[in-house]
Amino acid sequence: MIDQTQISFENTEYAFVAKSNTELKKANFLFSIMGKPWLVNAALKITPLAINLHIPFIKTLIRKTIFNLFVGGETLEETVKVANRLEKYNVKVILDYGVEGKEGEHNFEHARDEFKKVITYASTQPNIPFMSVKITGFARFSLLEKLDEEMRKFSGALMKRYLCALDMLTDNEKEEWHRVRLRTQQLCEEGSKKNIGVLIDAEDSWIQYPVDALVMLMMDVFNKEKPVIYNTIQLYRHDRLQFLIDAHTAAVERNFIFGIKLVRGAYMEKERNRAVEMNYASPIHTDKESCDHDFNASVEFCISHLDKISVIIASHNEHSNLFTTQLLDKKGLPHNHPHVHFSQLFGMSDNITFNLAKSGFSVSKYLPFGPIQDVIPYLMRRAQENSSVSGQTGRELNLIHKELQRRK
Ligand SMILES: Cc1cc2nc3c(=O)[nH]c(=O)nc-3n(C[C@H](O)[C@H](O)[C@H](O)COP(=O)(O)OP(=O)(O)OC[C@H]3O[C@@H](n4cnc5c(N)ncnc54)[C@H](O)[C@@H]3O)c2cc1C
Repeated sequence: MIDQTQISFENTEYAFVAKSNTELKKANFLFSIMGKPWLVNAALKITPLAINLHIPFIKTLIRKTIFNLFVGGETLEETVKVANRLEKYNVKVILDYGVEGKEGEHNFEHARDEFKKVITYASTQPNIPFMSVKITGFARFSLLEKLDEEMRKFSGALMKRYLCALDMLTDNEKEEWHRVRLRTQQLCEEGSKKNIGVLIDAEDSWIQYPVDALVMLMMDVFNKEKPVIYNTIQLYRHDRLQFLIDAHTAAVERNFIFGIKLVRGAYMEKERNRAVEMNYASPIHTDKESCDHDFNASVEFCISHLDKISVIIASHNEHSNLFTTQLLDKKGLPHNHPHVHFSQLFGMSDNITFNLAKSGFSVSKYLPFGPIQDVIPYLMRRAQENSSVSGQTGRELNLIHKELQRRK
């Protein structure tokens, strides 16, 4: 049955139904702290140093505060408590093994094995349909960078540029890339066998081309009948709406389902700074409005082509989420359409997640886990993202205050 009820993200009773009073007060305290940019900036400088110097109590302090707010646990097994709690409210989980940027073949093999364990574990759980992967978890960054640079020297379709760029690698690099492909393939195969979606994160724009090509190759094999592999498009980039349209054309031609996670993008300052430092045109939109326009246009494009696209709306933007639900209703599509999924990060925008779930949409929390020292870069990004009172933090705090007031 199609539920046409108007959804509201203002319902704080349902938004925080999974949080006790104590948890809510703690979230209130942490978001208030994150609303002080000077404090966040100081913490961003001190924390990695303190971790490296093994300063006593630092890990305990992090674990009891920001770690608990944004991370599911230090081990796979520790995430079960969070996943079970979310399941009660029809909220699913995207498991994210939070290892970032550990280089070396040994670490890459280890990461591949850990990702495989995540898939196996997810397949035993009732509400974990996806896991996410960063290709930099098992590929050397500078190799991706070289391939990307070579791909930019050629023109034409993505796969043509990829094949030309491969020819430019040395024999050793070709072998190394072959191992990266193999690891990716093994993970995708495992996901396909165990029916767990594999989401490939988007990272820096200067390594994205080979990632796009690799993911496209995987989709061509594993997404023939149903979506298993998903790429990510960052709509803060001005070239990505066109990339989506081209990818859809490729999916139609090759007859596979294009799996895509739509995000605005997490590395805007880094992208802009690099472009200035290295004197090239920034790949990022000049303003937020253009980024929002492309995000919503991408949503519209995906919803209009659901026969060959499976989309994950990964956003905390209320308008974009509402816009998607309204599009589905307008087209008479079911809220739980198998090719439409929503997701927000664990610890953020519960008002969106829980109200979407209540209205029957397929929605999940993106739940990272891993040893504290490994998830520090992720936590840093969350603290940074939440350090503007006018932005997300202000919104989170208003909602928490409203709910605390209501519970009195
Ligand atoms: C499930 C999930 C998975 C994710 N996976 C990834 C991933 O793989 N890769 C990744 O990079 N990020 C990823 N993210 C993070 C995501 O990019 C950020 O959470 C997101 O950018 C915040 O935007 P928003 O859509 O929530 O909405 P908003 O709060 O409306 O938008 C904020 C964003 O808009 C963009 N923006 C802000 N100002 C400007 C400006 N002046 N010009 C241009 N753009 C601007 C920036 O991207 C900024 O982060 C993921 C998020 C979720 C929820």
